[in-house]
This record gives sequence, C-alpha cells and structure tokens, in this order.
Amino acid sequence: MSGDVWVIVEHRDGAVSEGTFELLGAAGRLAGAFGGQAVAVVLGSAMSPLTADLGAADRIIAIDDPTLAEFTPTSYQAALVPLVREREPRLVLVANTGVGMDVAGGLSAATGYPLAAYATGIETEGGAPVVSCQLYAGKIAARVRFRDGRGICTVVAGSFPADAGRAAGSPEVETLAPATTDARIRFGRLIRPEAGDVDITRESILVAVGRGIGEADNIGLVEELAAALGGAVAASRPIADAGWLPRTRQVGKSGLRVKPRLYLALGISGAPEHLEGMRDAELIIAINNDPRAPIFGVAHYGAAADLLDVVPALTARLTG
Ligand SMILES: Cc1cc2nc3c(=O)[nH]c(=O)nc-3n(C[C@H](O)[C@H](O)[C@H](O)COP(=O)(O)OP(=O)(O)OC[C@H]3O[C@@H](n4cnc5c(N)ncnc54)[C@H](O)[C@@H]3O)c2cc1C
Repeated sequence: MSGDVWVIVEHRDGAVSEGTFELLGAAGRLAGAFGGQAVAVVLGSAMSPLTADLGAADRIIAIDDPTLAEFTPTSYQAALVPLVREREPRLVLVANTGVGMDVAGGLSAATGYPLAAYATGIETEGGAPVVSCQLYAGKIAARVRFRDGRGICTVVAGSFPADAGRAAGSPEVETLAPATTDARIRFGRLIRPEAGDVDITRESILVAVGRGIGEADNIGLVEELAAALGGAVAASRPIADAGWLPRTRQVGKSGLRVKPRLYLALGISGAPEHLEGMRDAELIIAINNDPRAPIFGVAHYGAAADLLDVVPALTARLTG
C-alpha cells in the first residue's frame, strides 16, 4: 500500500468542480502525513486543458479514452478498478455528489476498499486516517477508522476550504489508456437546468425561505423583505417541490450552491442537504421558532422567533 491520496477529479464543460479543489487541498495535507503524494486522477477524453487547474496535486494521472468523454458509472468503474488494485493508494477522495456516489460505491465493492460516505472531516491518528461522517441525514455523527488503514471517502461539499486546493503550477502528468472499458451504460444527453429569472449563485444578499413559512400566500412577505434589502429570494427544497418558488431558487444538495455576503434563513431547519448549498455564505442569520433547530449550528446570528412576526417588522423598519 502506498501513502498516496487520490482525488477523483469531477469536471464538466471543461471546468474542474469546486468540490474537487476542496478535496485537493485536503489531499495535500493527508498525503504529507502518510508520506505519500496528492494525486489528481482525471478521467475523460482529450482533457489536457483541465490539468492546468490541478497545480495543488503533486502528480496527475490522466485516464484518457473516448469512452470516458462523458461520465457513466460503468466506464469510470472499468477505468478505476484495475488502477486502484494495482497502485493501492492509501485514500481515495471523491466528492459526495451524484457522480461521486456512483463512482465510490462501485469502486468500493469491486476493490474491497471500505467506503466512508458523507465525510465532513478527515484527520490522522497514529498515521492512520480517522473520518468524521454525518449519517442518517446528519442525525448521527460517526468517527470511522478503516480496518487496514485504507479506504474511500465521499466528502460533503464545504467540508474543506477550496482555496487550499487551488494552485498554479504544472505537476507531472501520467497519461494512461484505461486497462478495461465498459460501455454498457451509454451517455444520452445532458439535461441542463432551466435558465432562471434570477441567478441566485451571483446574488450577494439572499433571503431564503423554508417550510416554516407555512403557506404559499406568505411568500409575498419574504419577497418584500428581499426587495427592501436589495437581494433575491431563495428557498429550501420543500418550497420548490411545492411549486411555491421556481426550482432555480433552490439551495442545497439537489439545488444550487451559493456563497452570498448575507444569507438570511427564514423557517429553514438546517438539514445537511440544505447546509451543503449555503454554509460558505459570509454571514448567516437564521430565524426559526425552534431554538434547537440545526440551522443555529451554522448561523453567525440567530433569533428563536416566529418569522411571521419578524419578517414584516424588518421590512417595515427597512422601508419606513
Ligand atoms: C437526496 C436529497 C437531496 C436533498 N436536497 C435538498 C436541497 O437541495 N435543498 C434542501 O433545502 N433540501 C434538500 N433535501 C431535503 C432536506 O433533507 C430537508 O428535508 C429540507 O431541507 C427541509 O426543508 P426546510 O428546512 O424548509 O423544512 P423543515 O425541515 O420542515 O423545517 C422547517 C423549519 O421551520 C421552522 N418553523 C416552523 N414554523 C416557523 C415559524 N412560524 N417561524 C420560524 N420558524 C418556523 C421549524 O422549526 C423548522 O425548523 C434533500 C433531501 C435528500 C434526501
């Protein structure tokens, strides 16, 4: 077993994902502790421009093949499984995204590397990794040790700072053809989300509303507050599911990831899937009538209060 820490690079439209940079930063630190290297593993077809963004890695393994031009679980598995078996990295870090979960589960089953899913932190103890995981949608916090000290982690977005993984430089690139290919699943087409009226990822002030708003008619109160603050309205998933606001306003795991200067969370409980999309906001203020709501764990300021009292009062103060 080597001391190397691999990062499976996620990319789309020629751009490396934010989550990949988070993993690269962590990989550098961990590989140092294991006496190995941080290795960026990028799968695709003719993806040389991507490697210029991977300067935080000590080394790049580029698996290049037309069958890897678009992600499919089978093509990625076929390329990765023989390589992991042969080179035996200490850790394989994968973003806890739809793609990452598809990759990690199959890779774990095929290689026998145990999988620590929903990882939010990785430390080392006695030269071995110890992984903090949020299980059952954050209701259980587990600390995981791998039996023989090696494993795969799917890491929740926002667990590590992305800036640590962004570096200029051109590490050595080893380009390989996949040892095996598997085209049982073929890429059809990418269905992009509908273009929204407002791009919440670019707004500096977001007033986000959750199920605590009670009913659709109350959304107007939140829109008035957002207008008074010069911001835009965002939502938790139940609000988008109910059709009270468009899907393009949804923040979180299956929505958008936002990083505004101010995130005002109104009647949002703070489920891990929601936090994943907003915990990097510069200033988080939460209003929730349950003082034990998990959102207060990430909020910089909070009020345990009824939002139907606070929101109109705030709007009146701002516009009065
Ligand atoms: C695979 C997967 C993907 C998911 N993706 C997302 C995602 O992208 N985004 C997302 O948001 N969720 C997502 N979820 C759902 C997530 O798990 C939660 O169910 C959801 O975030 C809860 O939304 P909420 O906080 O609005 O509602 P709730 O959890 O119901 O919380 C409502 C909160 O409002 C408070 N409240 C009630 N009345 C008032 C009042 N009058 N004044 C003040 N506070 C009040 C309550 O105390 C409560 O804390 C996903 C789940 C899964 C399984």
